Amino acid sequence: MAGIAQCRNRTRDHLASISITGSTTEPVHPCLPEYFNEYASRDLNAPRSQAFGQFQYPTPPLGRPGGAQAVFHHEWKKGEAKEKLKRTVEAYRQFEQGQLPVGPGADALLAAFRAVEDELTDHEPGPAKVVTDRQVELLLKKKASVLHLSAANYCWFEDPAKALCLKLAGAKSTAAPLAGLCDSSRCPQATHHLVHRSVWHAAANNGAVLLASPRIPAGEKERMRAEHERSMRVLQEIDKAAGKAG
Ligand code: SF4
Repeated sequence: MAGIAQCRNRTRDHLASISITGSTTEPVHPCLPEYFNEYASRDLNAPRSQAFGQFQYPTPPLGRPGGAQAVFHHEWKKGEAKEKLKRTVEAYRQFEQGQLPVGPGADALLAAFRAVEDELTDHEPGPAKVVTDRQVELLLKKKASVLHLSAANYCWFEDPAKALCLKLAGAKSTAAPLAGLCDSSRCPQATHHLVHRSVWHAAANNGAVLLASPRIPAGEKERMRAEHERSMRVLQEIDKAAGKAG
């Protein structure tokens, strides 16, 4: 055990002298394999503290439950919830200014916004009162919690039974939508807003270029034509709601 103790002290000094969270190019101390091999072969039944003494990691090991991963996950969830609420309030403020959402889920969203509007009106003691963002946030918090953000649409995932993507996939799990199978022009939980216009505009432009190309086979163009028409329709709806359409 004297050899182990000596080696343990050298190992401890070595680990203390390097930053484990820093450089990964630091060579493994030659003593480490020797130390652990000897401990494993000669002293399996000895109490761990006998070999390791007061040795402790210079930094706590990462990746353990409740460690850095859990902290990161918590922070990420917090940031996501904040962003969802911000986008919901933004959509509500646009609704107040007459910029309405469009898409198959627009009526449901408008009904939710009108309910919030009524509630705010009921609680206003007089016309001079200014409704703060905080009040709006509190009333929209529940709605925001079901929002799933994507580049081309908002998905208000309130009822898994209505989710077109889950139906298309025949999915058994109903915990979350399948964004990869999203068809927001047909799903009753999808809405389109001005913030999504650039995506639909790019899709419509790309579709027009491909349809004009002589290199695309006729059969493929049939499929692309349907997609292009869908992009144009969504784009026109967004523009009409924004008062841009002629
Ligand atoms: S189809 Fe799209 S909008 Fe509908 S539930 Fe699935 S991801 Fe959401």
